[in-house]
Amino acid sequence: MDQLSHVVIAGAGIGGLCAALALARQGIQVVVCEQAATLSEVGAGLQVSPNALKVLQHLGVEAELRPFAFVPEHAAIRDYKTGEYYLKSPLGAVAESRYGAPYWHLHRADLHRVLVEACLQADVSLVLNAEVVRYYEDPEHQQVSLLLEDGREFRADLLIGADGIRSKIREQMLGQERPTFMGQVAWRGVIPVSDLTVDVKPDACVWVGPGRHFVSYYLRGGDYVNFVAVEERSDWLSESWREEGNVDELKRAFADWHPEVSELIQSARSTFLWALNGREALPTWHQGRVVLLGDACHPMLPFMAQGAAMAIEDGYVLAKCLFRHRLNDALPQYERLRKPRATAIQQMSKANAGLYHMHGGVLGKMKLKALQAAGRFVPTVIQSKLDAVYGYDVIKD
Ligand SMILES: Cc1cc2nc3c(=O)[nH]c(=O)nc-3n(C[C@H](O)[C@H](O)[C@H](O)COP(=O)(O)OP(=O)(O)OC[C@H]3O[C@@H](n4cnc5c(N)ncnc54)[C@H](O)[C@@H]3O)c2cc1C
Repeated sequence: MDQLSHVVIAGAGIGGLCAALALARQGIQVVVCEQAATLSEVGAGLQVSPNALKVLQHLGVEAELRPFAFVPEHAAIRDYKTGEYYLKSPLGAVAESRYGAPYWHLHRADLHRVLVEACLQADVSLVLNAEVVRYYEDPEHQQVSLLLEDGREFRADLLIGADGIRSKIREQMLGQERPTFMGQVAWRGVIPVSDLTVDVKPDACVWVGPGRHFVSYYLRGGDYVNFVAVEERSDWLSESWREEGNVDELKRAFADWHPEVSELIQSARSTFLWALNGREALPTWHQGRVVLLGDACHPMLPFMAQGAAMAIEDGYVLAKCLFRHRLNDALPQYERLRKPRATAIQQMSKANAGLYHMHGGVLGKMKLKALQAAGRFVPTVIQSKLDAVYGYDVIKD
């Protein structure tokens, strides 16, 4: 296969836009097909750790994002009843000097908008109302064609499937298989600080309790608090994977939690309920002139706040591999570089469900106490785990 000049991307999520921008910066012509009628993101927050921020810095969008960021002081894990800290690890200036990039909280819509603007400035074509249905390869002309539901067709040297957890591209490449419901649902919401009746600490805080956990952090310079409330459930009856949640049900579920949680939730006016889905590691991430990235190939429980970070890293590494190698070497090289890391983080996120939900009763509590003791007496153990995730630098690789 020859060097490429045209790429078509299915999906204008955070992963697809980062890949588009990284490729366009290399002079490649990029078309992104997005099924939505408008370019927007869900009303929720995102923790963007230094490993992902390094990529955003390199793509030249850090300055545009900075006014919308919130810098948390600590990463904290606290007991759902007593508020006792099982972990309190500094972020803020400490994280920035340790990792060479900040740890930020961003509203998804702000990150998405800034990426869209940067893509447009870099001459990426964003096609809306463009529902991808399938692709076919044309070996004679060494091209791949992406077909839309309305009959439109886009030809390119390479197709990137960045179309999320229900990826049509993945389905055609590897066969029909639904993502697995992970037995967890998440309520998500954003509350204006002016509505709060309780003081919320400026941390990225995970409140842990039996069968549930609650995440809270500030957004947009501290004007809003984002929350994610996760509950274990054995059933998920809705066909939709994202729907309006019942605020009263949410308030009841966390009513006996620490006041910082229960009072915070009292101010919530609306919430979305998400089923959390996963997927086993795929046998391959590419085939012919088609390659996957982000949730399309490695969706994960959001219990390390790394799903979007992995999609951002993927997009950059894929562009770098395509810059350095011919196509038939670039795609295996991309998978070699990305799969071990994405799979490890997928597994660590799953393992955090047990820790955050105190699985094993007394044993579960003992694990949290062990974490607390490690933080006090051997902080290097905790630090080395965080370093492996946040200190990873895809730019240098
Ligand atoms: C509760 C929760 C909290 C989270 N918190 C964090 C966090 O703090 N930090 C973090 O890093 N990650 C977090 N994540 C994970 C993160 O949201 C995802 O991993 C990330 O959005 C994946 O990006 P993506 O671009 O691969 O896919 P998506 O964001 O799903 O984007 C896919 C895009 O493709 C489009 N599309 C889909 N099908 C088609 C089609 N047939 N044709 C055309 N377009 C199509 C979609 O409309 C969408 O625009 C969280 C997830 C959840 C559920």
